Amino acid sequence: MKKCVFSGIRATGRLHLGNYLGAVKGFLEIQEKGDYEMVYCVVDVHSITTPYKPDELKKNKREIIIDYLAAGLDPKKSILIYQSDIPEHMELAFYFSTVETIARMMHLPTYKEKVKQYPQSNTMALLNYPILMAADILIYKAGLVPVGIDQEPHLEVAREIARKMNQTYGTDFPEPVRFATKGEYIPSLTGEGKMSKTVVNSFINLTDSLEEIRKKIRSVPTATAAGGEMSPGLKTLFTFAQLFIPSEVEGFKKSYEGRTLQFVTLKDRIAEAIYADLKPFQERRVKIAADQKYVDEVIKDGAARARKIARETVREVKEKMGLS
Ligand code: ATP
Ligand code: MG
Repeated sequence: MKKCVFSGIRATGRLHLGNYLGAVKGFLEIQEKGDYEMVYCVVDVHSITTPYKPDELKKNKREIIIDYLAAGLDPKKSILIYQSDIPEHMELAFYFSTVETIARMMHLPTYKEKVKQYPQSNTMALLNYPILMAADILIYKAGLVPVGIDQEPHLEVAREIARKMNQTYGTDFPEPVRFATKGEYIPSLTGEGKMSKTVVNSFINLTDSLEEIRKKIRSVPTATAAGGEMSPGLKTLFTFAQLFIPSEVEGFKKSYEGRTLQFVTLKDRIAEAIYADLKPFQERRVKIAADQKYVDEVIKDGAARARKIARETVREVKEKMGLS
């Protein structure tokens, strides 16, 4: 049997550079290797664990499937799905919640951050997020998970759940590990925290025009910090430079140290390089978006293939837990 890979993205907005470099590039790298069964998901049920608008969710989730296709995921090789099309994910999450404690979930940094972001929405669904994520991964017995470094605490929970289920009920879940990319942590354009779909002014979308990218990169704060240290904004710019114009980094660093660096020159060069990288994606995206029937077929076919695997895992778990 082929080893399985799983990953997902929330439909809380349009994809940005962080999602692309930290997650989607990893999906493509693994697809390229050719020796894995791959399931790439739009985790629409995870998207309802924080405040959202139903009509926007409906639009965003489809846009992400189109993004996956435009980025180069091949639906013949990779199974592309909406999480809510496979209700077994939610069923398995409930079974998993019997081996995880409330205290453990409450201490996760990811949970604390989201509560800080949405103090009025500290819900059971949010607390259960990592358990549902463990179910997403383990329902396909996936051992490899291409996600950004921010997801590492959740993967730790998934490994813990796999161990506990195996010890308690004799299941055979693997302990999933993260597949890391070079862009595993893309900083926010504000100079604070990571780029996120739900943090305003933090991101560059994959569909942004050159104008928009230039404007956003120019907005990165570059005021010098006390003590001559590089400011967080400038560090962000050099992170982008390292990823998009690696051969030019040395030169820009030298002029920074010699105090001759014009920030706008560095910024505009980065903006150009980002746009050049995204242009082929944007062109493919226009073509795919024009073929809605194809997109529908991909979603329908993905659901049917994933559900077969998911049903079998849930059947096994129910049997081992004494439920059937
Ligand atoms: P939200 O604000 O709704 O949480 P998000 O931008 O954090 O959105 P997610 O849907 O939570 O995106 O994450 C999708 C994938 O993108 C995950 O694999 C996550 O690790 C990765 N990712 C998110 N932000 C970044 C980032 N700034 N750098 C690298 N990878 C990232
Ligand atoms: Mg997130």
